[in-house]
Amino acid sequence: MEDAELWLEPLVEAGIEDLSLSDDAFHFDTEEDNPTKIALQAAENLRLAADRICIEAPFTSLEDGSGARAKGTPVVGGDVLFKGRAVEKLAEGWPTRSWEELDQCPYEELEQPYRVHLDPFGNVQVCQGVSIGNAWETPLSWLLKEYQAEAHPICGPLIKGGPAQLAREHQVEHDDAYIDECHFCYLMRTTLIDRFPQFLSPRQVYGMEQ
Ligand code: SF4
Repeated sequence: MEDAELWLEPLVEAGIEDLSLSDDAFHFDTEEDNPTKIALQAAENLRLAADRICIEAPFTSLEDGSGARAKGTPVVGGDVLFKGRAVEKLAEGWPTRSWEELDQCPYEELEQPYRVHLDPFGNVQVCQGVSIGNAWETPLSWLLKEYQAEAHPICGPLIKGGPAQLAREHQVEHDDAYIDECHFCYLMRTTLIDRFPQFLSPRQVYGMEQ
């Protein structure tokens, strides 16, 4: 607990107002005493507002019938998006759709983002692994002001026609079908990472070393 408080104290001093921590079976094996539980208690001791993000196991729409999520909103409910580690760990055995049907980005507001992900390397990401610049090199306010979605080699095609357009425009070889838009998008981006390293970072999102 003392260690956790030591790590969180600088966040309190920096004026961070809210902390979200992953707490589910995809991040930890045990329900009890996992690092999130300790961090939540430490945050409470330091009077830092903190909450859990809990991802439920994926289900097909036939099982549940729901799944609608507003663009640009944080993950709060529990639907797994098939990108990043979820693709490596969970993408076996699900129904798939033809690649041509995957013609939009259903979740992120890529054209005029009103939230971004900021990683410890300074990358400002409009979706995990899709960077619009580095906040350690250029002030965040400038990056957002200067961002031109249509000129971005990844966001431009995604806005125009989703992952299908991304594959077409950059002539990436692909399969006939994927689980969903994010599954297709993530795999296309992984293939493109060495062509657009500055826009597809950090590499850790793609399971690679920096
Ligand atoms: S992975 Fe691609 S399709 Fe899915 S939310 Fe991100 S940008 Fe959109």
